[in-house]
Amino acid sequence: MRDNSKRFTAAADPAPVMASDEAKVSLDFSAPTELVDLPSKGKYYPEGHPLCGQEAIEIKFMTAKDEDILTSPSLLKKGLAVDRFLQNVIVSKRINIGSLLSGDKNAVLVSSRINGFGPEYKTKVTCPACMKVSENVFDLSEVEIYGGDDFEEYDITPTEHGTFIVKLPRAGFEVELRLLTSRDENELAVKMQQNKKRGSYETNLTDQLKKIIVSVNGVEELKTISRAVDSLQAFDSRYLRAAYLKAVPGLDMTQHFACEACGFEKEVDIPLTVDFFWSKQ
Ligand SMILES: [Zn+2]
Repeated sequence: MRDNSKRFTAAADPAPVMASDEAKVSLDFSAPTELVDLPSKGKYYPEGHPLCGQEAIEIKFMTAKDEDILTSPSLLKKGLAVDRFLQNVIVSKRINIGSLLSGDKNAVLVSSRINGFGPEYKTKVTCPACMKVSENVFDLSEVEIYGGDDFEEYDITPTEHGTFIVKLPRAGFEVELRLLTSRDENELAVKMQQNKKRGSYETNLTDQLKKIIVSVNGVEELKTISRAVDSLQAFDSRYLRAAYLKAVPGLDMTQHFACEACGFEKEVDIPLTVDFFWSKQ
C-alpha cells in the first residue's frame, strides 16, 4: 500500500491570511487519500470500466461521517451500510460499487479499517476442535494480496474475456467461470437469508455455482447451466469451488489461531464479522 497523503495540503501553518487563495488552503477540509493496490490489478474488468487496467484505486481516509454510515441502524438493516460506505470513500464517482470484484472490494475495506481503527482486529473465534468461543487478535497489516494466478493445480485456462475454463474430472464437461462482483455477493447474501428463513440451506452452494458459471461445454443458456449444476457430482462441485478459489484475486485472510482452552492451533480465515468496523477498542 502506498501512502499518498503527502500530496495533499495539510493546512497546519498558522501564518496570517494574506490573500483569498491562502484562506482557501487553510480551510481545506478535503480528506487525505491513499492508493490501495487492487488484487485484480484491473485485469478482469471489461473494457470501458474505470478500473480496467488499473493497478490501484484511490480512496479517502475514513471520516466521522463514514463512521455514521457504518453504524446507521437503518442502513445496516437493509444491508446497504458497506456499499454506501464504499461509495463514500472511493474517490472516483464513475465506479459503480456493485461492479467491484469481490477481492478488490475486500482490499478497500481492509485498508479503510487499518486507516480508521488501526491494524489490530479483536474478534471472537470458535475453535474448530472444541467449539469454545474465545477472543483472538488478528493483525490486518500482515494480510497479503493473493493474485489469483495459480492455474496449475486445477489446470485452469484463462480466456480473453476475463473468464476461466476448468474441466470437471468426473463429468468431463468444460466449465467456464467468472469472478464474483460485489453485486453478486450481495444477491447471494440475500438468497442465503431467504433460505435461512425457510429453514433450508440446500441451495446455498448450488446458488453460488450458478452465479459463477458462464457456460458448460460452450452452452450459455441458463436452463442448461442450472440443470448441469443441479446434477453435479459432489466431487466435481468441490473441485470447481477449489479451482475458483485459485483463480480469484483477493486477500489472503488466513492467519494463525491458537485455542486457549484446548491448545488447538491452526491457520484460520480472519472472520469478517460485525466487529470489523464496529469493534470496541
Ligand atoms: Zn479449542
